[in-house]
Amino acid sequence: MYTIIGAGIGGLTTALIFEKLNIDYQLFEKAKKPNALGAGIWLAPNALQVLEFAGVIDTVFRAGNSIDRITLSNQKLKPLADSSQLPAKEKYGFSTLAIHRAKLQLALIESIPKEKIYWNKAFKSLEQANNSVTVIFQDGSTTKSQYLIGADGIDSKVRSQVFPNSQIRYSGQTCWRGVMKSALPIEYKDRGIEMWGKGIRFGLSQLSKNETSWFAVKKSKAFQKDDKTNLKAKLGSYFKAFHPLVHQLISNTEIEDILRNDITDLKPIKDWHKDNVCLIGDAAHATTPNMGQGGAQSIEDAYHLGKIISENPNKNNFKAFQKKRFKRVNSIVRQSWFTGKIANMNTGYPIRNAIFSAIPKKLINKNMYSVYDLKD
Ligand SMILES: Cc1cc2nc3c(=O)[nH]c(=O)nc-3n(C[C@H](O)[C@H](O)[C@H](O)COP(=O)(O)OP(=O)(O)OC[C@H]3O[C@@H](n4cnc5c(N)ncnc54)[C@H](O)[C@@H]3O)c2cc1C
Repeated sequence: MYTIIGAGIGGLTTALIFEKLNIDYQLFEKAKKPNALGAGIWLAPNALQVLEFAGVIDTVFRAGNSIDRITLSNQKLKPLADSSQLPAKEKYGFSTLAIHRAKLQLALIESIPKEKIYWNKAFKSLEQANNSVTVIFQDGSTTKSQYLIGADGIDSKVRSQVFPNSQIRYSGQTCWRGVMKSALPIEYKDRGIEMWGKGIRFGLSQLSKNETSWFAVKKSKAFQKDDKTNLKAKLGSYFKAFHPLVHQLISNTEIEDILRNDITDLKPIKDWHKDNVCLIGDAAHATTPNMGQGGAQSIEDAYHLGKIISENPNKNNFKAFQKKRFKRVNSIVRQSWFTGKIANMNTGYPIRNAIFSAIPKKLINKNMYSVYDLKD
């Protein structure tokens, strides 16, 4: 039996894959119930292929919006790189999907037997023995199983107990995310757009018939708080040189639908597993969101872990799982960190833009496909 801690994107997908492959599991989440927090995320074709395997692709698609063209542009929306996603659709069956995180999680929860998810169960600590792990929850209750999977996100308590020296890194950038409760003008409906300016950037995509998601990234000290009364005016002034669409989105978003998070990641750790405990998703390898791959990589973890376990059900497969995933994931973490630095450059940004607009499409597509490929 596998105990999974955390019903986020990675933990829920693991439950679905285990369900499909007949691997015995139980899932524990600290939240009292499924909640509707968060903003939009993009699910790249690598994640969508796994969700198809897990049998939830139709439900997920119904809740989101397909992105058929991804544009990286300057602040006035002049393209630096423009990629049609249709060749990816032909190759992998899917282009990218934009979806509200809460709707994604609900779509996954819907397909997991109710009795296998325990809500309001916050992991407190664990005790490892030769052939078992005992979890102690905040409410004092315990559960014992042969294996434990820590899918409890970037601030993982499982990780801090098993690998106490792991470090979260602040990127020096903060991110506001908003969801406007209306659609984009029709010409932008199927597009994902990211505009790069001088030291700041702004991205957007429609999530559904009546929701559009955006993000705004700026250098900042860590842990700053906003005065909500003037936040929209402040964002408007940071982005004053940007295309009018940016201002339309900021001013038409309700203040309570704007969230702020500092952008962090986990400094890559040497091991994701120790004996019968293994970390997956952000708990193992949180990445900055610059490549839109953090959630996708936790979904891929679920897929590969499930496949490896089902091929060798009677042994501990955590070492083989890490071997399968380590190089690819760490390369994404590195690329994403570097992309963030380039995207928010303060000086030299005209040169950056000139270089980006000169990169051959073939090279951009090659890099994109190497991320979209599940590497089965
Ligand atoms: C601004 C931003 C934008 C992003 N955009 C994208 C994107 O476009 N595409 C993409 O693929 N990824 C994106 N990501 C990354 C993505 O959100 C994460 O990589 C993904 O959520 C990781 O999934 P996870 O299951 O590992 O962790 P999480 O989704 O964080 O889930 C962890 C779960 O564990 C639970 N938990 C925590 N502690 C405990 C405990 N002690 N006991 C029990 N349960 C616990 C939490 O409540 C939560 O439900 C973005 C991230 C950010 C910050």
